[in-house]
Amino acid sequence: MIIAIDGPSGAGKSTVARLLSKEIGFEYIDTGAMYRALAYKAYIQNIDINEVEITEMLKTTNITYYDNKIFLDGENVENVIREEAISIAASKISALKVVREKMVEIQRKTAENKNAVLEGRDIGTTVFPDAEYKFFITASLEERARRRYEQLKINNIKVDYAIVFNDMKKRDENDSTRRFSPLKPAEDAILIDTTKMDLIKVTKTIAQYIGGSNVL
Ligand code: C5P
Repeated sequence: MIIAIDGPSGAGKSTVARLLSKEIGFEYIDTGAMYRALAYKAYIQNIDINEVEITEMLKTTNITYYDNKIFLDGENVENVIREEAISIAASKISALKVVREKMVEIQRKTAENKNAVLEGRDIGTTVFPDAEYKFFITASLEERARRRYEQLKINNIKVDYAIVFNDMKKRDENDSTRRFSPLKPAEDAILIDTTKMDLIKVTKTIAQYIGGSNVL
């Protein structure tokens, strides 16, 4: 069974998808981490993010997601892909058609024959349009920026709230206006606005949809 959780950054997808997958014993697959890992490689190797350069880079790049961790060319990069610079680069790289095709293929393979919760932007629309359950989680831009800011602070990453807010706004624009697989709810997705909800409550709401109230 596939459960798709899509939505913009900071809406609470990761927390909810993690809690839910743990609770129901499903695999958790963070598709954003795959785009981030690619962006990280381009960033540290000073590769310009354009179709030609990235097509070349992809030929010698290996992305795998295993045991809740993302591996880039065999190395666990989980701890180096969450910085703001990588968030922006990930949003840019994810707009390229060649990147999307490759990542979607990897995502489908990773979830093959599994019960999995996948979080991303296009899981319900493109990666698994036949997913048994689709959720689209949103929150106001201010609230999402606030959550992201708090999260960065916890991770000891120093940054101004204003910068986080503007970066998030820019990422929203990039992600929703790009030509290939833009961020949008699938027609049959259940929409949840988390602006005023805590994420445990969101997880419980989703669990009720998929398995009745006894799941959490
Ligand atoms: O979810 P996260 O913030 O880690 O994703 C990083 C970036 O990767 C997003 O801003 C988006 O541009 C891209 N992404 C995507 N499709 C997905 C997951 C993430 O385009 N399924």
